[in-house]
Amino acid sequence: MTVDRILPSDEAYELLELVTELADRELAPKVGDFENRGVFPREVLRTLGRAGLLGLPYPEEHGGAAQPYEVYLQVLEILAGRWLAVAEAVSVHTLSCYPVATFGGERARRLLPDLLGGALLGAYCLSEPQGGSDAAALTTRARRDGGDYVVSGTKAWITHAGVADFYNVFCRTGGPGARGISCLLADANTPGIVPQTPERTMGLRSSPIAQIAFDEARVPADRLIGAEGEGFKIALSALDSGRLGIAACAVGLAQAALDYAVDYARQREQFGQPLIEFQGLGFLLADLATQVSAARALTLAAARLRDAGRPYSTEAAKAKLFATDTAMRVTTDAVQVLGGAGYVCDHPVERYMREAKVLQIVEGTNQIQRMVIARSLAR
Ligand SMILES: Cc1cc2nc3c(=O)[nH]c(=O)nc-3n(C[C@H](O)[C@H](O)[C@H](O)COP(=O)(O)OP(=O)(O)OC[C@H]3O[C@@H](n4cnc5c(N)ncnc54)[C@H](O)[C@@H]3O)c2cc1C
Repeated sequence: MTVDRILPSDEAYELLELVTELADRELAPKVGDFENRGVFPREVLRTLGRAGLLGLPYPEEHGGAAQPYEVYLQVLEILAGRWLAVAEAVSVHTLSCYPVATFGGERARRLLPDLLGGALLGAYCLSEPQGGSDAAALTTRARRDGGDYVVSGTKAWITHAGVADFYNVFCRTGGPGARGISCLLADANTPGIVPQTPERTMGLRSSPIAQIAFDEARVPADRLIGAEGEGFKIALSALDSGRLGIAACAVGLAQAALDYAVDYARQREQFGQPLIEFQGLGFLLADLATQVSAARALTLAAARLRDAGRPYSTEAAKAKLFATDTAMRVTTDAVQVLGGAGYVCDHPVERYMREAKVLQIVEGTNQIQRMVIARSLAR
């Protein structure tokens, strides 16, 4: 189904056309094979980098494309409809560039052209084995020793572990709580940084996640992003943006599942007529289509606040919550619309359903999004 979009510039229309072409050519034919084999498509990410898609919302002076966030999110949406792991990789990479682009000193910012151009791939290391939701309790520690920080501890569930070129490491340089946390930008090949065996996952199998052990890893002190003690503020503000990326991925995934289910219901006949003409299924599809449109509208409304320089944190939480719950519902019902065919791997809807689940968990579970929204109501 063609989505009727209102975009802010002619350039944005051209960009979305180019991305649709590229996604049809480079992503759609490869997704099944890479997901089956569980192989990370590094070359595909390089291709996206060369097309300028790995630094879209960042300033041109740093090698970005200076696109409004609402345009970047619609690019993600198109990618997610073809291959969620690739869209998520773009979203995580863009999130990983945020601390250095927004809070980095001059030396760290010199890395930006390579990060935004896609020569280097990033990862964001906040979660730990003993806690993801309560991130302010993290225990990975960095002590200052001469011109370096020496980092020890374990990060968990890190997307791009083992394939990234640099890690944003949120670690404790001070006392307990949020104020004791700092952010370091570490090269992946630093001795003492050891990615562990990748997890075996329900979906997103071409996207590696693993624990990363830090064993007295020395990170130069000029790789401190922001000031000591500012790390938690940096982590949360990066997540506000990142959550919009996850919401856009959810909209793209939900749209793909809806489109597939509608096509199937138009072609498949039972009792002498196409499935879609039975009110029971037609109304179900109507509800799903409405939810997808609402999820897109909520996501873009939050992005437009961000683009206007207005507070958008609560709206980003609402968008992430609603869009990812929508993706879970739409993908689950898409399997139902296909009946037995929905349950087998010849059709992509079973994969969509497995993939949707993770979007309700990453970058703050949907319970945490509700906490953010409830707190804003209580203020
Ligand atoms: C595929 C994948 C990729 C990921 N990528 C990254 C990454 O790149 N970088 C990174 O840092 N992390 C990453 N994560 C980790 C992810 O952000 C965490 O899994 C998530 O924040 C939840 O943390 P947890 O798993 O420790 O669950 P817990 O915090 O233990 O939560 C368990 C359950 O309790 C609920 N809960 C917790 N606290 C509350 C509360 N106060 N009120 C109500 N309910 C609550 C949660 O919602 C959840 O349902 C990834 C995870 C996955 C699965």
